[in-house]
Amino acid sequence: MRFDVTTLGTGAALAARGRYPSAQLLNIRERLYLVDCGEGTQERLRQAGINFGSIARVLVSHMHGDHYLGLMGLISSMHLQGRTTALYLHGPAELREVIELQLRVSRTYLRFPLHYATHEHRTGAPVFTDNRVEVTALALDHRLECTGYLFREAPLPASCGVTSWSRSHCMRARL
Ligand SMILES: [Zn+2]
Repeated sequence: MRFDVTTLGTGAALAARGRYPSAQLLNIRERLYLVDCGEGTQERLRQAGINFGSIARVLVSHMHGDHYLGLMGLISSMHLQGRTTALYLHGPAELREVIELQLRVSRTYLRFPLHYATHEHRTGAPVFTDNRVEVTALALDHRLECTGYLFREAPLPASCGVTSWSRSHCMRARL
């Protein structure tokens, strides 16, 4: 069963040739999860041949711009491409303010629902669970409140013969 990570960006706050700001894409049984969405993430997704519409959730580690400044552009592109399925955003409460402000001043009315979710800033706090994964928070030490995300693959159906958590991947957000 597929459980892989594509590193789209590993750069820091200042632009650097050949390195994009933070963004990692997880493909877990053909469902896509984006962790951080720095500037230029759309271009990197294009280079990787990823359909934006396949991204189910975006998780933002913290509110330094190199971790989220690409998100409004990505949301806008999803809208222009006619997305209708909901997009789930996980991260600090301020993320909602930033996105809603940009939608309001541009008078953009998205064709799809945006769902915002926050979580406690402590290691082990639940972030979300779906039928692919269970994700919990890792409280990281940084100048702003900052969260890493621990992805644990959900059990496969009993007919597959796997009944316990089979693999886990620790995603430590780049600071
Ligand atoms: Zn930072």
